[in-house]
Amino acid sequence: MRRFFFDPSSRNGDKAFLSEEESRHISKVLRLKTGDEIELLDGLGTLYHAVITTVGRQVEAQIEGVVVKEADVGKSVLVWQGILKGEKMDTVVQKCTELGVTEMMPFQSSRCQGKLSRIQARKKHQRWQRIGQAACKQCLRLQSIKIDTPVTYTESLSKKSDDNTILRLLFWEEEKTTHLHDIPNIAKACSLALMLGPEGGFTREEVEQARLSGWRTVSLGDRILRAETATLSAVSIVQYLAGNL
Ligand code: SAH
Repeated sequence: MRRFFFDPSSRNGDKAFLSEEESRHISKVLRLKTGDEIELLDGLGTLYHAVITTVGRQVEAQIEGVVVKEADVGKSVLVWQGILKGEKMDTVVQKCTELGVTEMMPFQSSRCQGKLSRIQARKKHQRWQRIGQAACKQCLRLQSIKIDTPVTYTESLSKKSDDNTILRLLFWEEEKTTHLHDIPNIAKACSLALMLGPEGGFTREEVEQARLSGWRTVSLGDRILRAETATLSAVSIVQYLAGNL
């Protein structure tokens, strides 16, 4: 059955109101009709069975019952990602969603290729959110991925900086001694934050700045991985060690 997201805060009793984008997809692309059955995701972990009651610019649906509710959220894994060029960033957002990343913080650091204007950043953000949502539906993920608006590197370091429960790992090809198996608390930590650089990597100053903000540098081995390979490897290994895979 087709799945769509709805905003649970817009729910009125058993009535769910879908966004303009989901409504357009239902009415114009799929041409679903009043009375058709659908599944609705609230993005918080519950999947509902529903029946369309109104089609058009804003689709309305009657919620008939809960199909499944995710009991435990598991550990949260946050990815601070240096913005990659074009489709590479799209791929990373999609794969991180599939791999269960909770939240992504895209940042612009000094070696990012091309700086985004405010308007470009907004458009990219909307695009990544769409990709994340589509990936959630495709991989049958019940909790949506949160994708933050792009920020500068310094701003990204201040994000969640007062949360001492987060274990912060910055992946750096110049780190020669500490590997993931040297970090003892991955299985115990309730939240993990992984930071990965853009294609051009981090400058030494950026790494120092992160260390001062509580990030530990970690190696993924002697080979320099392409940015997207590094992110997906780091996320996969950490998710395995954290018991989320
Ligand atoms: N500009 C660098 C490589 C950057 S690779 C160079 O060409 O020398 C992009 C990102 O992938 C890096 O910022 C880092 O976060 C991650 N990365 C790649 N290889 C890595 C490795 N062996 N260990 C840890 N992180 C790595």
